[in-house]
Amino acid sequence: MPEIPEIASRAREMNQALPGKRIGHIEVIQPKSLNLPTEDFCKALVDTVIEEVTYHGKWIKVRTTRGWLLLNMGMGGEILLTSREKMPVKYRLAFDFTDGTCLAINFWWFGYAYYSELDGLHTIAMIAKLGPTVLDLSEDEFSALVKEQKPGMRIKDFLLDQSRVAGIGNAYIHDILFLAGLHPLRKILTLSDADISCLYTAVQRGLEPSLAKGGAFYETDLFGQKGGFEMKDILIGYREGNPCPVCGESIEKIRTGSTSSFICPGCQPLI
Ligand SMILES: [Zn+2]
Repeated sequence: MPEIPEIASRAREMNQALPGKRIGHIEVIQPKSLNLPTEDFCKALVDTVIEEVTYHGKWIKVRTTRGWLLLNMGMGGEILLTSREKMPVKYRLAFDFTDGTCLAINFWWFGYAYYSELDGLHTIAMIAKLGPTVLDLSEDEFSALVKEQKPGMRIKDFLLDQSRVAGIGNAYIHDILFLAGLHPLRKILTLSDADISCLYTAVQRGLEPSLAKGGAFYETDLFGQKGGFEMKDILIGYREGNPCPVCGESIEKIRTGSTSSFICPGCQPLI
C-alpha cells in the first residue's frame, strides 16, 4: 500500500510534468472508482487545465482550472504518463491531454478517482475526515496532537489512524517506532516529552530514506521506473530472526491487536 514516500514522490513528479496540460478526453473503465456518474465526471474535468499537484495523506490532489481530481491508489497501482501508442496492458482510467500525452491510471485492487469543486474539498467525506499529513507538522504541532489523544491509546494505533495523522501505513511504521525506541503497544499516557520529541524525529528519519529514493521498489514512478527503496533498506520491519542493527538482539514479530509488529525487544521495551 502506498504511503507518504510513494504518494509524495508521485505528486512531486506529477507536479513537474502535468501543469499546463489540458484534458481533452477521459476514458473510464472502472466507473465504480468515481464519486459521480461517468458522464458528469468527464463533463466536469474535460477541457480543464492542470494547475498543480499536491497530496494529503494517501490522496493525490490534482488542481485544475475547474475543480479537483482526487486520486487514492488503495492497495497500490500505477500512474503513468504515456501516450496512446504505449498504453499499459491494464488501466482503469485514462486522461488524454490535448498535447497527445495520456495519464493512464491502474489500481491493483481498488482505488478512487473523485471530482470536487475547487471550494468543495470539505464535502468529500474521505478527505474531510483526514488528519494533517504527518510531514506537514512542526514538532510543537505534532506534540500537541499526540497529547490531545485519549491517554490509553496505543502509539501504533495513533500513528496508523488516518483521521488523526495521515500518511503512515504498515510498511514504514515498524522502523519509525524502532528509531523512536518505542514499543508499539506503549500507551500515550506513558510517553514523556522526550519520547514524543524522539518520535517526531523518528517519523522524519523513518520516511526520509524512501522519500529520497522515490518510494518503495514495489511501486513505479510516473514513467514506469521502480522506486529505489528496497528490502535491504528497511531496518527491522519484516526482518524477524535477524539481529537488531543497534544492539544485536533478535528482531521479533509480535501480534499487536489485529496487526503484526516487528520490534527489537532490547531497544523497544514495553514499560
Ligand atoms: Zn536493538
